[in-house]
Amino acid sequence: MKPLVLLDVDGVLNPTGPATPDFRRYRCTIDGTVYTVHLNPRHGPRLMELALRTGSELAWATTWERHANDWIAPRLGLPLLPVVPLGPDRGSEHGEMFKTRYVAEYVGRRPFVWFDDQVYKEDEEYLRAHQGLDDFLLVHVPPGRGLTSEHLALAREWLTLTGFSQGS
Ligand SMILES: [Mg+2]
Repeated sequence: MKPLVLLDVDGVLNPTGPATPDFRRYRCTIDGTVYTVHLNPRHGPRLMELALRTGSELAWATTWERHANDWIAPRLGLPLLPVVPLGPDRGSEHGEMFKTRYVAEYVGRRPFVWFDDQVYKEDEEYLRAHQGLDDFLLVHVPPGRGLTSEHLALAREWLTLTGFSQGS
């Protein structure tokens, strides 16, 4: 049972802050609406390396859902990834964000790391209480700058230390 590495798009791979030279701007057209995103082409190889080294599987956990495979993955050099299906926003029980229950349903008993700009203590508590899940790491990514090598290092360290790593 490979651990999952769950990826958000907005605020993680597409930061909200001023674009730095590492990022390229793209336009995406989804259902007639044009979205502008800023993507760092180095993110793809770094995520692939994380997955390879730790024996984990990348998956999308984003409101982009399947569109992430059309518009984001190819620009980062990522393959098509599994998508966590997100249903409607059914509200919050204890302050967790709406994605958290869908993530809980998707992961089942699999260990996972989750990169998101909106995961907080309430989400951690929800996952522990509702799933009896222990083996997960929520990595809160500040949305202004998005995913950095520090976040990737946290994930790698956790995946390695917890013994899920099947790589070196
Ligand atoms: Mg986000």
